[in-house]
Amino acid sequence: MADMETDVLIIGTGPAGSASAALLSTYGISNIAINRYAWLANTPRAHITNQRTMEVLRDLGREVEQEAYLHATEQELMGENVFCESLAGEEIGRMRSWGTHPMSKAEHLLSSPTFMNDLPQTFMEPILFTTAAKRGTKARMSTEYISHVQDADGVTATVRDRMTAQTLTIRAKYMIGADGGNSLVAENENLPIDGKMGVGGSMNILFRADLSKYVAHRPSVLYWVMQPGANVGGIGMGLVRMIRPWNEWLIVWGYDINGPAPEVTPDYATEVARQLVGDPDLEIELISANTWTVNNAYATQMQKGRVFIMGDAAHRHPPSNGLGSNTSIQDAFNLCWKLSAVIKGQAGAALLDSYTVERAPIARQIVTRANQSIGEFGPIFDALGLTGSVDPVKMQQNMDARTASGPAAEKQRAALRDAIAFKKYEFDCHGVEMNQRYTSAAIITDGQLEPPFAMDEELHYHPTTWPGARLPHTWVFTAGGEKLSTLDLTGHGHFTLLTGIGGEAWADAAAAVGTDLGLTIKVHDIGPRRAIQDHTGDWARVRDIRDSGCILVRPDHHVAWRADEIAADPTAELRRVLTAILQPKGAA
Ligand SMILES: Cc1cc2nc3c(=O)[nH]c(=O)nc-3n(C[C@H](O)[C@H](O)[C@H](O)COP(=O)(O)OP(=O)(O)OC[C@H]3O[C@@H](n4cnc5c(N)ncnc54)[C@H](O)[C@@H]3O)c2cc1C
Repeated sequence: MADMETDVLIIGTGPAGSASAALLSTYGISNIAINRYAWLANTPRAHITNQRTMEVLRDLGREVEQEAYLHATEQELMGENVFCESLAGEEIGRMRSWGTHPMSKAEHLLSSPTFMNDLPQTFMEPILFTTAAKRGTKARMSTEYISHVQDADGVTATVRDRMTAQTLTIRAKYMIGADGGNSLVAENENLPIDGKMGVGGSMNILFRADLSKYVAHRPSVLYWVMQPGANVGGIGMGLVRMIRPWNEWLIVWGYDINGPAPEVTPDYATEVARQLVGDPDLEIELISANTWTVNNAYATQMQKGRVFIMGDAAHRHPPSNGLGSNTSIQDAFNLCWKLSAVIKGQAGAALLDSYTVERAPIARQIVTRANQSIGEFGPIFDALGLTGSVDPVKMQQNMDARTASGPAAEKQRAALRDAIAFKKYEFDCHGVEMNQRYTSAAIITDGQLEPPFAMDEELHYHPTTWPGARLPHTWVFTAGGEKLSTLDLTGHGHFTLLTGIGGEAWADAAAAVGTDLGLTIKVHDIGPRRAIQDHTGDWARVRDIRDSGCILVRPDHHVAWRADEIAADPTAELRRVLTAILQPKGAA
């Protein structure tokens, strides 16, 4: 007999673990979350929070979404991505980023009811974790996962209480390894990880200093410092990152991965800060310093039996593009409704197989993107003449050459402009954030082909109701005038069916099939004099079906299936589709 029992045991309370706990508790699934440390993140690693993640928070509740905005630095202050010789020194160039360029801003506003923002991990984790704990998660800090065994009915994990050194066992139906980039769960399950760990060395120096005079006129999250002779390792160059405007900062600085990690003493930290800020008299209040490695690895299989991995346990990559915590939270959104459906008996265990099928390609994509983004600083170095020499004097001369007159300098200036603009693939990469599409047994396309991307799929979001894609957002209105996103009509742990005039029979079908399968299928009828109205016509333009058709949306906002018009037998159609997706026990 185990010391504790639960439905789902979650190892780790980072963004992945805390999001899982919050979602499972919201769905009414009992869970225990453990963390080997006494509390949550103590350094603000992740910060860029994209719209898709904010949609997960909004799905958890408008109060959860609002709390995030309350603590975040708003999008407008994120935008002037500056390249400079130092904060006090010459500016080399800048690009509008994170959806603040007017063109990009329009796309952001059109694609989601939420806003990108800068929310340090030290704020995000408590929001998710307290949501989880308030809704029923049993959390156990200072508790370290050691090992586990699986059998036909569940998982028994052995953990150590680090305050008493006592060893305990926890029995669960399923276990989630959200235990970060050095995941012991992944290792113990021998899950296959492709790629390489430790491809670069970086250090974080977290400090307080009022730098307003250098930055407030060009507000940004990231200030990239390119200095001849500066240490160009790890992440590529010196980075001064805003934590709180404009008096809390994190410097990210490379070190040679082939040597030992350096000891970051207060004197050393002050010296680096002075060099990057460009102020030899700068005084800093050092908060903390630590080293970390740049990784380039992803899991090709994110589950075995009753054990799953997510977050950095499955995708290990540099912070470029700000995708780590975001993807971790989105992994949780994909898996938790499936676990809930299986545990509640609404679905068979086969539904869970779609987790790896859907999320492993995303893991590969974001690890590749983030590492590629590091390489894409190369053209900036080339254009500045920083790559041909290691002599600081020569490098400075190469940089200065761009200010001369004549064709060579003009060419150099053009190359620099192009190289900086090309960094939109890191700093304004909306398509990577929003275009995730799934192909799996939990998606029924009925042979409909995937629509091609009209524009660059990494840069631009492409709305479509093609099964597998995330449901497009448009604003719709209740009869009382309340403005809602189409995403607000869906999610919250339920399947939802969206239809229109002439599609009334889908509602009867949803009630009948829902009763058979033991689940609630919400139905929204959208049209004039209906409960939900499409005054702008935006929904009709994007929905890709006729008025009487329907779109079946999964609890994670992804389209499960769509019908162009009312079926001859809507109940039979819906039963066919949901049975194929959920594969309930006893289904033929
Ligand atoms: C400098 C920097 C900047 C970044 N910026 C961004 C950004 O802007 N946007 C973004 O999305 N991401 C960013 N990231 C990445 C982000 O921090 C990670 O992707 C994210 O923290 C991963 O979340 P996770 O929950 O998977 O893992 P973690 O946050 O690593 O959490 C792992 C959890 O597991 C626990 N744990 C580990 N082992 C055990 C064990 N044996 N027993 C019990 N508990 C255990 C840990 O204590 C912790 O609670 C950045 C990272 C760095 C270093």
